[in-house]
Amino acid sequence: MKMFFQWPQATAFGERVERLGLHGLHFQHVGLCERRAWMYLHSVNFAHWNERVQIGTARHSTSHLRDHSVAGLFGLAPDRIDWVAKIVYESKGTAGAVDAVSDQTAFYAVMLSIASGETWRAVTTILSNRRQREVPLTPERLERLWQASERLEALAAQSKVPKAKRIALCESCSLASFCGYG
Ligand code: SF4
Repeated sequence: MKMFFQWPQATAFGERVERLGLHGLHFQHVGLCERRAWMYLHSVNFAHWNERVQIGTARHSTSHLRDHSVAGLFGLAPDRIDWVAKIVYESKGTAGAVDAVSDQTAFYAVMLSIASGETWRAVTTILSNRRQREVPLTPERLERLWQASERLEALAAQSKVPKAKRIALCESCSLASFCGYG
């Protein structure tokens, strides 16, 4: 049975995503650290010369095979899509940062729901323990995504690097040396 997707902000959300060129990682970053999200929005990253990131990227790209059917999907980049069951999967190495990671996975399902008019399911796959975590598109999750999109719009328009406190994530963040939190 078809489950039609109904969300009053759907059109405005989709337009904002398109206008700002947002994708899943923006929604993960803004849930973790606004400075990190700002860097990502403004294309500031140290990946090319940060050894830790290069190793992490290599590990991630070889730890699982990305589903080729997702290539070119209007800027989205989930790890796997089940087009028949209407489920989108995002893989993560560990089970941490549940809310931010769930926002990223939910973002893909929301965008596919907006595009198709039918409600998609979102599932995060945890590679380290081979478990799966469903992310229901509840009103609360949709509201989190809406608010995150508003923050991302504000950060995109901001020319100054936002203030940021040291948090646990700084230990492994590729921007730590820039922030002085390394
Ligand atoms: S080092 Fe910490 S404060 Fe700086 S961008 Fe990374 S997570 Fe944010």
